[in-house]
Amino acid sequence: MATRRLLVTLAGIGVALLLGATAGAVSEFVGLPVVVTAAMALALGVTVGAIIRALRTPGALFASVLGGVLGVVAVGASAITDLALARSKAATEASASQSQDPDAAVRRWEAETLGEPGASAFLRHRTRRGAPWLTGRRLDLGTATNAVVFGVETLLAAAIAALLARRATSRSFCARCEAWFVRDTLGRAPLGSVATIVAAIEQREWHRLGRRVATSTAGPLDVAVEHCPTCPSGSAWLELGETEGRRRTILRRVAVDGAALREMRESQAMRTGA
Ligand SMILES: [Zn+2]
Repeated sequence: MATRRLLVTLAGIGVALLLGATAGAVSEFVGLPVVVTAAMALALGVTVGAIIRALRTPGALFASVLGGVLGVVAVGASAITDLALARSKAATEASASQSQDPDAAVRRWEAETLGEPGASAFLRHRTRRGAPWLTGRRLDLGTATNAVVFGVETLLAAAIAALLARRATSRSFCARCEAWFVRDTLGRAPLGSVATIVAAIEQREWHRLGRRVATSTAGPLDVAVEHCPTCPSGSAWLELGETEGRRRTILRRVAVDGAALREMRESQAMRTGA
C-alpha cells in the first residue's frame, strides 16, 4: 500500500508539473486567468483520480490531501513558467534593441520586476505584475489585489483537484482481493411497491425482495448491489434508488453478505422461470 501511494504521488507530481507548465504557457493567449487555472485543476483532478483507481489506492483522506497539494504544485508550476516566459521575452527585447548589453538588460528587468532574486521570485512576479492576460499584456490590479486573486486561484485549484481525486475513491474497496467494488443493477420496480421493498430490506427478507424487482420491469425504483468482483461471498452494499427525471435519490443503503445476494438472485430467477 505504501509503495502504491508513493507511485501515485510521484505520478501525480509529474502530471501537476506538466499541466501547470502548460497552463502557464497558454494563459497569455487565452486571457482568462481564473478560468485557465480552474480548467487545469479539473484536468489534474480527473487524471489523478484515474491514477488512483488504476493503481488501486483506496483512502478518501489520502486522495483529498494529495489532490489539494498537487493543485498548489500545479499553480506554482504555472506561475514559474509564466515568469520564465516573461524573462525570456525581456531578453529577446533587449537583444533586439542592440543598444544595450542583453545580460545587463535582463538583470535590470529582474531588479525592476522582482526585486531581490530567490526561489520565491515567481510569487513576487505574480503579485507585482499580475496574471498573464491576452497577448503581451497583464491583468495588473495592484500588488495587494494581485496577491488576493492569486490566493483565490490557488485555493480554487486545490479544492477542485482534491474533490475530484477524492471522488475516485468513493466506491468500496476489497482489501483481500485488492479490487474496487463493481456495481450491478439487480432490477427495477414500479413506484407502488416502494413500501413492500423497503419493508423487505429492513426485515432482511431477501426472497421477498427478489420477487419484487425484475430486470424486465420498468419503473422508477431500482435495486443495485456493489460487491467485490472476485469474492462474491464477501460483504456487499445493497441500495434502493428512485429516479425522478435525471436525478436518482438513494432511499436505502444497507450492508449485506454474499448469502443474502444469492437468496435474492435465486428468488428472482424462480420468478422469471430461468
Ligand atoms: Zn474480494
